[in-house]
Amino acid sequence: MQDPKNMTCEEFQAQMAELIGSGEDLSVHPHVQTCTLCRALLNELETIAEAARQLFPVEDPPDTLWEKLETAIKEEGNQTRS
Ligand SMILES: [Zn+2]
Repeated sequence: MQDPKNMTCEEFQAQMAELIGSGEDLSVHPHVQTCTLCRALLNELETIAEAARQLFPVEDPPDTLWEKLETAIKEEGNQTRS
């Protein structure tokens, strides 16, 4: 396991949906603390996740939901990385 402080944005974003899905508080993640890009991305995702929770008020969101979030993360990453 790598030191999370030395993570690249790509590595972090690849794990992001999984971490959110596991109930991790990503706002305190070392990478988020030091990276404004991923902090903005996280804020956006939390908005999406919050909306999803209101649409699907279940304790364990279906896997398909996290797949959609992961896709959104990847698309976002492609847009912001130039
Ligand atoms: Zn980053």
